Amino acid sequence: MLRIREYRRVESLEEAYELNQKKTNRIIGGGLWMKIGDRNLMTAIDLSGLGLDQISETEDEFVIGCMATLRDLEVHPGLNAYTDGAVKQSVCHIVGVQFRNCATVGGSIYGRFGFSDVLTLFAALDCYVELYKGGNVPIQEFIHMNYDNDILVAVHIVKTPVKITYLSQRNTATDFPVIAVAVSEYNEKLHVSIGARPVRAETLTLDLSEKADMEHLVKKVQEQFSFGSNRRGSADYRRHIAGVLVKRACAANEQQEDRK
Ligand SMILES: Cc1cc2nc3c(=O)[nH]c(=O)nc-3n(C[C@H](O)[C@H](O)[C@H](O)COP(=O)(O)OP(=O)(O)OC[C@H]3O[C@@H](n4cnc5c(N)ncnc54)[C@H](O)[C@@H]3O)c2cc1C
Repeated sequence: MLRIREYRRVESLEEAYELNQKKTNRIIGGGLWMKIGDRNLMTAIDLSGLGLDQISETEDEFVIGCMATLRDLEVHPGLNAYTDGAVKQSVCHIVGVQFRNCATVGGSIYGRFGFSDVLTLFAALDCYVELYKGGNVPIQEFIHMNYDNDILVAVHIVKTPVKITYLSQRNTATDFPVIAVAVSEYNEKLHVSIGARPVRAETLTLDLSEKADMEHLVKKVQEQFSFGSNRRGSADYRRHIAGVLVKRACAANEQQEDRK
């Protein structure tokens, strides 16, 4: 059970940051993950009064505020046009619409959960996180950073021309993924991001020429990523399915090219 002694709706990021330096205080996004654990919080720090629930689009970037929800990602026309629907695909299997209306992008990315569909998708895009004190950090770097007391303010997706496909395998429709795969092509490179292995997503960046021999590419991916077992699936099963999904994602990316 989650027990909160004091709730504070902050008026500035500085106020939130100062409160967050105390170990017993925590930023609260949608609070959905936090509430399934057994926790005692002295102060829950709510950022919802800071206007960080918007997704804005500039000429060069999409800027996703940390309090934007997974549902906001799912139905955003610009993001889904840019990614050919991959953003929607990455979140549409997460529990249900009511849940996605509450779960935040900030909580999902800050959490860096091993099972995360959201992190797997972002890890295959040209993007970076904006931290209040830490500044801008590329997503690949952020994935490996330790948890600290900073605030994730926004996620920025650079509008580099991209082809991307997101696929996941689940034992039942809305369960956690057994394996999650995003394959993208940008800046003349092939990026393969695999999450739910069951550890957090990582990305392998390869030359585009690697696509010419699909069997070789699949073997490379299967060898270079580590896969583990848990009650949702064995390491061997995950390795096999990851190979299948990488192949399908590459084929889907080719079709995107044909349509353009
Ligand atoms: C039952 C269940 C099933 C789920 N299934 C899936 C699934 O299939 N796929 C998937 O990808 N995800 C899944 N999730 C995870 C979910 O999508 C969210 O990622 C998760 O709930 C965190 O989002 P939140 O807004 O609830 O964060 P919270 O629970 O509010 O916060 C999570 C953590 O992030 C910190 N935090 C929140 N916002 C910030 C910020 N702006 N800056 C710094 N720290 C911050 C909090 O202090 C906390 O430590 C599931 C979660 C649950 C509870």
